[in-house]
Amino acid sequence: MTIPSDLDISRATPLTPLEDVAAQLGIGAHLLEPHGRSVAKISLDAMEELSNRPTARYVVVSAITPTPLGEGKTTTTVGLGQALRYLGKRSAVAIRQPSMGPTFGIKGGAAGGGYSQVVPMEALNLHLTGDMHAVTAAHNLLAAMLDNHLHKGNALGIDPQRITWRRVLDVNDRDLRNIVTGLGGRADGTPRQTGFDITAASEVMAVLALSTSLQDMRRRLGRIVVGYTRDGAPVSAEQLRAAGAMTVIMRDAIKPNLMQTTENTPVLVHAGPFGNIAHGNSSVVADRIASRCADYVVTEAGFGADMGAERFFNIKCRVSGLRPDAAVLVATVRALKAHSGRYTVVAGRPLPPAMLAENPDDVLAGAANLRKQIDNIRLHGVSPVVAINAFPTDHPSEHQAIREVAEAEGARVAVSNHYLEGGKGAVELAEAVVAAAEQPSGFRLLYPDSADLRTKIETIATRVYGAAGVSYQPAASRALDAYEANGFGDLPVCIAKTHLSLSSDPTLLGAPTGWTLPVREVRASVGAGFIYPICGEMRTMPGLGSHPAAESIDIDENGNIIGLN
Ligand code: ADP
Ligand code: MG
Repeated sequence: MTIPSDLDISRATPLTPLEDVAAQLGIGAHLLEPHGRSVAKISLDAMEELSNRPTARYVVVSAITPTPLGEGKTTTTVGLGQALRYLGKRSAVAIRQPSMGPTFGIKGGAAGGGYSQVVPMEALNLHLTGDMHAVTAAHNLLAAMLDNHLHKGNALGIDPQRITWRRVLDVNDRDLRNIVTGLGGRADGTPRQTGFDITAASEVMAVLALSTSLQDMRRRLGRIVVGYTRDGAPVSAEQLRAAGAMTVIMRDAIKPNLMQTTENTPVLVHAGPFGNIAHGNSSVVADRIASRCADYVVTEAGFGADMGAERFFNIKCRVSGLRPDAAVLVATVRALKAHSGRYTVVAGRPLPPAMLAENPDDVLAGAANLRKQIDNIRLHGVSPVVAINAFPTDHPSEHQAIREVAEAEGARVAVSNHYLEGGKGAVELAEAVVAAAEQPSGFRLLYPDSADLRTKIETIATRVYGAAGVSYQPAASRALDAYEANGFGDLPVCIAKTHLSLSSDPTLLGAPTGWTLPVREVRASVGAGFIYPICGEMRTMPGLGSHPAAESIDIDENGNIIGLN
């Protein structure tokens, strides 16, 4: 069976006027700020106006440890949102805004897929309403003010060797990773080595995602640490007097973007913090607004449950105060087969043909990962629902194998065909989610604010990742001590490790035990509000492959986009 491309499906979808989409949420037209016909920003006045309404059930969508191809969290998030409406529930979907770097790099679009996607997909995947540009501009204004401060005499005594603030752009461009700025003559600034990160990796993006209001965003931007003085004292954006102007640049970006799915279910698209060095979840503001407007809010957390869901619980929910009622764990036949260790899946390449043969034993051989990720949801007192995201190449015996593993763990489980069938194909999943969410939530944070940073790291490493312990490089230990001394010890931690394994080694599949988490370095996103220990190589500026997706993207003779999938 051939199904049309995501772009063709998107283009063939009749759009409902956004006022009608908003009306499903009881959001009046006076709260909408239209950007063209297919996207509107929601005014933050909605927070105040809707605050007396009951709160929705709150469902997070996470996954088992994925292959580099992604296992379908976004499609499942969209499909579940659509399916809940078949059960007579008002639903709202919340996702991150895709970054254009990966869109033109390896990944193609990130709007979901098949008959469960956010439309129009080209609006979502390209500029949307300019929030990415606002983050880029605010970030780079701070960089410019910092360099200007050095140039104009450095009254704050900033140590040029200890500047942590770089520049950002929304592009995959490895040549910008390490650069020298300030070349030229005396009038051209102070030469120093620095570099660019992708905009999604900007702390300003993480601030946008974790702010609870415009004023809170102002405070968080002010707390951003740009570097240290020669005495080791942190220097903030507030001290550089940049935070006010940054907030002004971000004034519209803080409003969530309303779109719709292929079945006209409301979707709030907002913020896109990087999953490897930041928390990888869409915004608190969007989820808070949505939670006053629907019976169910379905929100996606990036990567596997050890990463996105752990940070959703311990960073995002800590800030938002929202309590999740259920967690969906997306599982696929291909990822469980990959966890058997018998196959190698490479990004940008087709699956090895042998992986497509019917083989429930391979699925069972990879089941340890699913079991551990179920456990990771339960650690937070939340009820797990395993969503078997069905691919056209799967075999029923393989779905049955996943079902048996999930049921043996006492988890709810459903096969979901939302990709081919839209919401109708996810009704069994929606029923399981409703059953789970109607139980009282026992949600709990994994650690209190007051635990010291090493305890927080060790708690996540041992309980969530299954590590035997944690080791610290001397630089990491010094940084942790300095952060505690500077008063940052109350922040939660966002461990930067590979998403391709529960461990810090991407080649260890399944649920590895007996290994040690190596903390090489520790950095702070004080404005966003987390400390991030770095375990392994973490790229903050991706590169392009030999054949980037951009090579296949074009405009046809009628001016339509082609090749954006
Ligand atoms: P994630 O959000 O977990 O990264 P996505 O939902 O973006 O995953 O899906 C990853 C890729 O797999 C996308 O290209 C998507 O279109 C495709 N995909 C997801 N689910 C299915 C499915 N059931 N059948 C076929 N392709 C799928
Ligand atoms: Mg996704």
